[in-house]
Amino acid sequence: MTVRLPVLVSLLVLVGCAADRPAAPRPSTPQLTAAPPPAPAPAAPEGIRLPRTFRPAAQRVWLTVIPSAPGFSGRTEIDGTLDSATDVVWLNADALEVGAAAARVGTEEVRAEPVVRQDERMALRFPRALPAGPVTLRLEFRGTQFTQEDSGIFRQQSGGDWYAFTQFEQTDARRAFPCVDEPAAKIPWELSLRVPVDLTAVSNTPVATETPAGEGMKEVRFRQSRPLPSYLVAFGVGPFEVKEARAAGRKRVPVRIVAPRGRAHEAAWAARVTPEILEGLEDYFGIAYPYEKLDVLAIPFTVQFGAMENVGLVTFRETLVLTRPEQDRVERRRAYAKVAAHEFAHQWFGDLVTAAWWDDIWLNEAFATWMETKVIERWAPAWGIAAERVEQRNEAAEADALVSARVIRQPVHTYDDVKNAFDSITYQKGASVLRMFEQWVGAETFRRGIQRYLQVHADGNATARDFLAAISEASGRDVAPAFDAFLDHPGVPRVQASVRCGAGGATLELAQDRWLPAGSTGDGAGLWQIPVCTRWSTRGKEQSRCVMLDAPRVEVKLEERSCPDWVLPNAGYAGYYRLQLDPAWRARLARSGKLSDAERVGLLGDTDALVRGGVIPRSEGLQLAARHAGSREHHVLEAAIRLATVREDFLSGRLGPAYAAWVRKVFGPHARALGFRPKPAEDDEVQLVRPSLAGFVARRGEDPVLIAEARSLTEAWLSQPRSVAPEVRSAVLTTASQLGGRDLHQAFTQRLDRTADVDSRDWLLEGLASTRVPELLDDNVALATSGRLNPREISKLLVGGRWKEVAPPADSAIGRSRMLTGVDRTWDTLVTLMPRGGLSRFLALAGLSCSADERAESERVFGPRAKSILGGPRRFALALEKLDLCVTQRTREVPELEKFFPPPRPSRSATGG
Ligand SMILES: [Zn+2]
Repeated sequence: MTVRLPVLVSLLVLVGCAADRPAAPRPSTPQLTAAPPPAPAPAAPEGIRLPRTFRPAAQRVWLTVIPSAPGFSGRTEIDGTLDSATDVVWLNADALEVGAAAARVGTEEVRAEPVVRQDERMALRFPRALPAGPVTLRLEFRGTQFTQEDSGIFRQQSGGDWYAFTQFEQTDARRAFPCVDEPAAKIPWELSLRVPVDLTAVSNTPVATETPAGEGMKEVRFRQSRPLPSYLVAFGVGPFEVKEARAAGRKRVPVRIVAPRGRAHEAAWAARVTPEILEGLEDYFGIAYPYEKLDVLAIPFTVQFGAMENVGLVTFRETLVLTRPEQDRVERRRAYAKVAAHEFAHQWFGDLVTAAWWDDIWLNEAFATWMETKVIERWAPAWGIAAERVEQRNEAAEADALVSARVIRQPVHTYDDVKNAFDSITYQKGASVLRMFEQWVGAETFRRGIQRYLQVHADGNATARDFLAAISEASGRDVAPAFDAFLDHPGVPRVQASVRCGAGGATLELAQDRWLPAGSTGDGAGLWQIPVCTRWSTRGKEQSRCVMLDAPRVEVKLEERSCPDWVLPNAGYAGYYRLQLDPAWRARLARSGKLSDAERVGLLGDTDALVRGGVIPRSEGLQLAARHAGSREHHVLEAAIRLATVREDFLSGRLGPAYAAWVRKVFGPHARALGFRPKPAEDDEVQLVRPSLAGFVARRGEDPVLIAEARSLTEAWLSQPRSVAPEVRSAVLTTASQLGGRDLHQAFTQRLDRTADVDSRDWLLEGLASTRVPELLDDNVALATSGRLNPREISKLLVGGRWKEVAPPADSAIGRSRMLTGVDRTWDTLVTLMPRGGLSRFLALAGLSCSADERAESERVFGPRAKSILGGPRRFALALEKLDLCVTQRTREVPELEKFFPPPRPSRSATGG
């Protein structure tokens, strides 16, 4: 097939590439005109925003996209208004070559000179001032379809075919076409794609016309969209196969799953549940799904996002959407439903109503995170999603305990700020704070406020002010001051609680400050208005009450005459604060047996934080974990395992075997009863529990029975993959590899080279990453930089799971040390292999470290490089703070562990006495 790019008639200008961005290739024969002597460039606007002079009203884009070709070309027209007369108009553009540019004012065409900048902006300079009023800008350009990036327009191969995709959030629409690339610029878009005739093109809206364009090409024109910010524009081009789902919602919109060629049959689950989830959301919002259709598009791999809420064309990492039927598992099915609920919730929150600027991005992300659990709770009550909400709270509070943590509504002035705005503070803390205030004002009142907010701002932008006004109006009280304290101040509060019983009955004493773990350099002062809802029981009779904790100390009368059996001053753990009950009441609560699963997850999570933070002794933490070792609910059991997990670094000498014996004793009976092999007719919960529990007891408890089982299943999987249940493959391969040697490592590597199946590759990579043999870890670095892995796989092999997860190889000192050396040695290669925003993942190697030596090494490796990583400076600061806190914890905790695991006394029986 031949590719003909449009002939650019005038100056070709390479528009701003940030220093670490790959430049678009220059065309082989650029037709540079003899330029007049350059006039001085217009003064750059400050910060990263464009000047307000030009306000766009609608944009049309024509692109020629051939997925098998490295470049693309296009032209665009932007209708808008000039607020005042000017001879310079600013737009965003990055890694684009801009050719002819002009403005149409009335019937007159005024040629413009595009002026290069290095900061993702470009100026159109006109020979004379254009008058205030309507104007249409016209530009021709060409750019790169990236292969290592998963942003802008990028292309990937699947099954030997090339596909092109887009990812524009946060600020990468500007790499596809010049535009006003800011969330407040919400305008209708009209997209036309010129693509090879045998390919399918999808975008935000249905196809309007498809016409032959000659030379093996066709032109696919899509209908004009409702007003959208540029970051929500999206398309895909390739030999897709489509699975139709049923029409959904009040307007019966068509729903489809768009998969790579030949793989639509892997989308059965997605096709079944997508319409149901969409309808659940419609119900809650009381507003019909706002767009004309919904396509779910599977992307082979992504690094910097898992899914994206593009209007009408929601993209997902393939593993969430597609799975061979014989490899499907409960966990994956639930993951799709939850992520889908999140992305579809954005169609209202974020898409229909958009945050005005990136500092209010929590309005999108906190909402979608909160709504995801809300809609799943109604749709699949058996999934125990309330416990997951508390897991999110635990995760947020963990991040928020750091002094270098952001605030939810952090000012955004730089691209680093934009990147960092998408973190667990925005998502999980935001969601947890929403949940707390939902409980405070009442679920139905809160819902009315949300519906009002969406109706008033539909197709427009909004800010935190607008949202809080809507909730205040619905609830009849001003929620803003209490809410603001959580939005604009860093940190998670700690509520210390105790009960005073006497002749006058029972009084609950509450005190607040900022939760900071021992060793923190932060200031513990802090005053929030915290809604505290307390549940308690007196002689078997349960009661509850909510109060506003708005002073440093507050007393609440619980009972006139008697003393409660137990109190829980965080009912449902819906409150966003760490709860520290005094020891006697902690013991009563632990013994009560009256907590919901969600509350157990909260109690275990808070105890874990308070143990690591030096407030509760490790021994008490281990005992509480042991109480829950038999739990059959997977959230509770996983929380118990987290609390029972002592870092390997802390267990030198005899402590290692002593800890392993404890794990076997406490968790072993449950784990061995389940084993790694499924039994007939097990429910979902058992399938979810098995891999974490059996894996934990095998790896950390060194349980010989489970290890033997993992080894034999690994061999079975290598010769006959279907013989091993899909949900345990990761746990089994990881266990076998941690205790295995070179032969197994080689077997995994050879299998990896032969398999294209994404799931199998993930399992193999997790297995490879789990080795503890130094030379094999070095082999992993060589494999990661060999060019045989995609960027997501590279990060998995070198760092392990996600940023917050402690997974091999980063869970052991030897793993971290070898990977850090490897990353240092191969940095220049990694920069060429990873997306620019993906390099920050390697900083996790520092954040999971726990010694002065590791700190020095991390500073040597990352210190000079963090500045060149997008979002790097803040993430490196967070990583070092975590490292320092861990060093403090280690110093304190090792003697405690020595005490908890006393040396065995000389045995009398051994000497025959
Ligand atoms: Zn989101």
